[in-house]
Amino acid sequence: MNNKNKTSSISKLKASLFEGNQGNIVLTFILLTLYSAANVGIAYIMQLLLDAASQGHWNDLFRAVALSATYLIVFFLVQLVLRWSRNRSFVVAMKNYKSYILDKLIRSNVIKFNEKNSGTYISLLTNDADTIQNGFLGSMYNIYIYVLYFLFSVTLMFYYSWKMAIIVIVLSVVSILAPVIFSNRLTQKEVRQSEQNKKFTSVLKDLLNGLYVIKAFHAEPEFSVRMHAEVNALEDARNQRRKTEEFLEITSGSISNIIQIGVFILGAYWTIQGDMTVGVVIAFVQLMNYIVAPIQGLPVLLSRRKAAKAILESTATLIDEVALSPKHGENLRIEQDQYDIRFKNVSFGYDETTLALSNLNAVFEHGKSYAIVGPTGSGKSTLLRLILGEYDEYTGSITIANREVRDLSIDAIAEICSINDQDVFLFDASIQDNLTLYKKFPDDQLALAVRNAGLSTVIAEKGLDYSCGENGRNLSGGEKQRTAIARALLNDFPVLLFDEPTSALDHETSREIIQLITSLKGKTKIVVTHEADDEILSMFDYVYGIANGQLESDRTG
Ligand code: ADP
Repeated sequence: MNNKNKTSSISKLKASLFEGNQGNIVLTFILLTLYSAANVGIAYIMQLLLDAASQGHWNDLFRAVALSATYLIVFFLVQLVLRWSRNRSFVVAMKNYKSYILDKLIRSNVIKFNEKNSGTYISLLTNDADTIQNGFLGSMYNIYIYVLYFLFSVTLMFYYSWKMAIIVIVLSVVSILAPVIFSNRLTQKEVRQSEQNKKFTSVLKDLLNGLYVIKAFHAEPEFSVRMHAEVNALEDARNQRRKTEEFLEITSGSISNIIQIGVFILGAYWTIQGDMTVGVVIAFVQLMNYIVAPIQGLPVLLSRRKAAKAILESTATLIDEVALSPKHGENLRIEQDQYDIRFKNVSFGYDETTLALSNLNAVFEHGKSYAIVGPTGSGKSTLLRLILGEYDEYTGSITIANREVRDLSIDAIAEICSINDQDVFLFDASIQDNLTLYKKFPDDQLALAVRNAGLSTVIAEKGLDYSCGENGRNLSGGEKQRTAIARALLNDFPVLLFDEPTSALDHETSREIIQLITSLKGKTKIVVTHEADDEILSMFDYVYGIANGQLESDRTG
């Protein structure tokens, strides 16, 4: 990806945080200004009250009390509205941000998408999104508050005593240098923690999804070692970040203590000399908090924002990587209704040294059924993947409806070809939603698909609302296959590809499913199978034998 594209994806992702959110953000900034002024203003109120008390002026005291009451009411209201507007801006930003990423992911290139572990995507939308909310938006607000604290208190300090103000500012500038030096280290530690978190989530996903396999192979000790290693690495990374952050806080804290005590000593000296009042010294000490807090907090906030920005950039890069490649983005629709598929002298290898398919010739006529039979590793699945346009680097020619597959977009092919394998994927939803995928279909069309896929009995017994369960666990293997076939029929795919659809089924169910597939009218059916059962193979119009990437025989079933 060139730099220009990269920058534009980052700014688009960033823009999603602000879309339709400008009103909330502007209002939040206005309220933050009032909030900061009110916080700093407490020093002024303290000074008025204390000086009225120390000088024994009743009138001044009454005025100061009235002012305090007004101040407290306004401050309370500002905080209430601020709480509302700031949270509103977070909610809108996160809804936009997560929807933007989800929309990109759902349109991504399946092959590239699958190259990354699903834990990565989970992190993207959980931990990383939290970091963006707090580290990017939250820090933006907090940085603004700190800058205002600093400016307002400096102004008030100059109003009270320019001598003391200059001393305090000089000390502050000197003290700010140390934390700045460490803030880069904190950024590095935060990025490392986020990376470690992704790795840990991946291992956790393996455990959650693969416990059955782990148990079956007695691989608990090996997995324990892996998990412990990742847990240790994650906790170490978290500890490193915490240690760096706390070190920064301790250094800044000590610096602020030195300044505060210094101000008290100088204030006491000038008060004895008659240059200052007790109220002003107390106001100065109070104002110090609003000079010290930014000095302490700004470096941490700035580096947190920098780390969040780095995460935002890597998120944008990741969703770009899995996005459709530009060539596959163009949508060439196929409008013919004759979907013959032809392989002419096709050779293809995943790497340069070995060919998975070599010099293959085959014709799959529209409406007919084909079995592709051969041992494991002979290239059967590769043949299906080539039809689906997953790989362009083949030699020879593969055409669907006389269009070269290489020139078609994955989307265009996906609109006409459906693929099912032994592991039919069903969503954790009702049978109806699994069939329609939440689209609207006329009832009679749905009923026809159900009937043609042989699902009528199942539906009569369980109903369309029956929950399929996570990955279809509430249905039998045969029922899952039928549901997947009904889904393909409902969506009217002219070409149906099956990769070992029956290998998880018993013989009788396999026979029923193959009978069902081969009897579907008006569809091209290509079934990859290692099944050598003559009764089953005889149901197909044609049987291709494949071995070592070459079609061996071409016999009619
Ligand atoms: P079958 O479906 O007949 O079992 P495949 O088409 O999956 O066979 O595989 C054909 C050959 O290509 C095998 O040698 C296999 O190891 C290799 N192969 C399959 N997929 C990949 C891949 N993604 N990367 C590299 N080699 C692969």
